[in-house]
Amino acid sequence: MTDLKELLLSRIRDVEDYPEQGVVFKDITPLLADPAAFTALTDALAEIARRTGATKIVGLEARGFILGAPVAVRAGLGFVPVRKAGKLPGATLRQAYDLEYGSAEIEVHAEDLTAADRILVVDDVLATGGTAEASLQLIRRAGAQVAGVAVLMELGFLAGRTRLAPALDGAPLEALLQV
Ligand code: AMP
Repeated sequence: MTDLKELLLSRIRDVEDYPEQGVVFKDITPLLADPAAFTALTDALAEIARRTGATKIVGLEARGFILGAPVAVRAGLGFVPVRKAGKLPGATLRQAYDLEYGSAEIEVHAEDLTAADRILVVDDVLATGGTAEASLQLIRRAGAQVAGVAVLMELGFLAGRTRLAPALDGAPLEALLQV
């Protein structure tokens, strides 16, 4: 394992049975509280943004905001929040997606994504891939291009990568850590 991966992994706390029985929650707050680890993570994600030719970062509420915003600044790109429905004041595009129980909706300000944009989606954890998939659908509906998806950690056993493949349509999914 590289030094970067070891550093990042050492700062992620496993919280068992949170928020419900049987789930191991990947808590990134120790990583955020460590300036060396947070900077190393930001630099690694900014490098992916440069490599994929992104023009803007889309961050997924809420931890994708914390990770995505400094990546955008570091890479010299714009930042666009994808929020849970009902939080954005302007004209939005809305996308529904299925959860294990029920469904959810996310939104983006339509005018923030243009045909000239190549979007890198940033989040902390890729689990089932449902949230990232819906965000890619929003980006494509807005007419923008998909540069890729970059996450700190991919939970391989939930097969989010397989679910995301059609929406990625050949764009890369980059995970700094895989478990
Ligand atoms: P999914 O749509 O299933 O890929 O879930 C992704 C979203 O839920 C991400 O925004 C994650 O922050 C959060 N999430 C899902 N599972 C976990 C987990 N085990 N630990 C931490 N966050 C998680």
